[in-house]
Amino acid sequence: MSPSRPKVGAPSSRAGQAGAPRAPLNSVSTRIVLCVFASTLLTALIVSWLSIGAIHGDVRDGLRRQAHHLLAHHGRSLASWHAAASARLATSSAIGTPWHDALLGLARASAGAEPGPAFEWSVDEGEPADQRPSPAGLPAPPPELRSDFDRLRFRPRNALERTPPLDCMSVSIDVVERSAAIVGRLEGCLASDVLAERLQASSPGLRGLRLLVTNRLGHVVAASGPRAVLRRGERLPAALVQSALGGDLVDYREGNGARLVGTSTAIGDSGWLLTAETEHAQAFAPAIAIRNQIFAVDVCIVLLFSVLAHRITQAIMKPIKALSDGARRISEGHMNHEIPAPANRDDELGLLTSTFNEMMDRLRSNQLEIEQDRIRLAEKNEELQHANEILSQLSITDGLTKLHNHRYFQDYLTREIKRVSRTRDPLAMILLDIDDFKQLNDTYGHAAGDEVLTSLAAIMNDTARESDLIARYGGEEFVILMPNTDLAGAVHLAEKLRMSVESTRLIIGDGMKPIEITISLGVAVYAGDRRRFFAEADKALYQAKGAGKNCVIIAGAGAPEARPPS
Ligand code: GH3
Ligand code: MG
Ligand code: MG
Repeated sequence: MSPSRPKVGAPSSRAGQAGAPRAPLNSVSTRIVLCVFASTLLTALIVSWLSIGAIHGDVRDGLRRQAHHLLAHHGRSLASWHAAASARLATSSAIGTPWHDALLGLARASAGAEPGPAFEWSVDEGEPADQRPSPAGLPAPPPELRSDFDRLRFRPRNALERTPPLDCMSVSIDVVERSAAIVGRLEGCLASDVLAERLQASSPGLRGLRLLVTNRLGHVVAASGPRAVLRRGERLPAALVQSALGGDLVDYREGNGARLVGTSTAIGDSGWLLTAETEHAQAFAPAIAIRNQIFAVDVCIVLLFSVLAHRITQAIMKPIKALSDGARRISEGHMNHEIPAPANRDDELGLLTSTFNEMMDRLRSNQLEIEQDRIRLAEKNEELQHANEILSQLSITDGLTKLHNHRYFQDYLTREIKRVSRTRDPLAMILLDIDDFKQLNDTYGHAAGDEVLTSLAAIMNDTARESDLIARYGGEEFVILMPNTDLAGAVHLAEKLRMSVESTRLIIGDGMKPIEITISLGVAVYAGDRRRFFAEADKALYQAKGAGKNCVIIAGAGAPEARPPS
């Protein structure tokens, strides 16, 4: 009969499904999900980093091309304007012109002063400028110069060292006298409105690129764009000045901390630099937008793969958990527990589960067989034990009289002698023999003799105490060992026994012929010597026979204790 099984989905497995215990951090499922999460994140980040790098590089290349295009266009324009203005300044100040004469006059007038003064004219001084000398005394320039320049400054030779450079995009020429000796330097700030017009570079497609004019040290003298006025006087970083040689884009920060990117070029051979720059955020806005999209996609991919990994792991771990729960319950002794089959019975886990359940079936059936064998074995053991007990009993029992046999008497005597040697308790022995038993056998037959022996055993059992040991010593001889009994007690029992046998009419066979028997008895008490103890009893019995039988003889007494009645 197969053992009854619980329904599929034992309480524990149902608890495992409904309770959905959270996986500990070091569980297999958590480790798989973390591994997928980390690897997906790493892959996404590497791909994104490479993509963003490439996009950033493309955007940077495009910006550089646009900046160079702008610089080339405006640089040429500014260079030609600068060259033309320089030529006009030279022509207007050529030897023999009134403007040259006026400049020579100023140079000579300041020759004594050290350091010499600088003479300036500014278009802001209003009209008629040619009739009103400027505060510094420079006469109004010829009309052809006034459209090119906002300001003019003449520095005689002795004023060259001390006066700072003009804070504008300027043109300068040396003023010489007929002897070709230099008498001073004439400088002019190119018209700021014309310059501003020529710097207007912004258009929607140019990513906010704006232009700045700087000197060789990077000091801004003119700029376009909304912060043009504020940028004037600022010094651009040396790397940006250097970029005029290589054309690279340079990242730098404006005075207010705004992040910028730009590059420079020389304005012809005028000695001035033209810089194109733009806000970094504006220039790289497309790359930043793509980068943000890539990061958003990255997050989605990582989350998607992590969720997928979680679902797959759960699908794998559920049957594994059912297996491990089942194994645990079985190890706890629930041998009838059956593991619920997973959703997909054909995959490895389904096969594992069905194999596990089959294995448990076999185990249960084996266990049942073992249990049945154990019960059979226990029964056999019990039988054997019983047989052993019987055997053991038989080995110490006389088969005919059911009294203890000679061997048991010897063992018992040994134990008793040990005990009384220790306790000094009295120990007595009666050795008795049926009188003329041979004759009885001869008269009535051995079967009757056997019955007589059995009857005598019954009389002895009735007469002696429970604590006395009665044994068949051999043939028709019996021995009674009496612990805690002194000589008087032993003699009393012997006499009582003798009289009881004597007075008993034994009904043997068909009961028609009652038989009378007598017994002779020898009594001895233990006095420290086993051999002597028995020999004395034996001798007393012998003396009893010699004294006419049916009497009790006490060892060492030599005379019968009792005589049969006459
Ligand atoms: P005594 O008075 O001197 O003891 O004479 P007895 O005849 O009793 O002694 P003897 O030694 O001459 O004979 C003992 C007899 O006891 C001999 C034997 O046949 C008989 N006998 C011994 N064992 C058994 C037994 O188990 N059954 C029967 N029926 N007789 C036995
Ligand atoms: Mg006899
Ligand atoms: Mg005998």
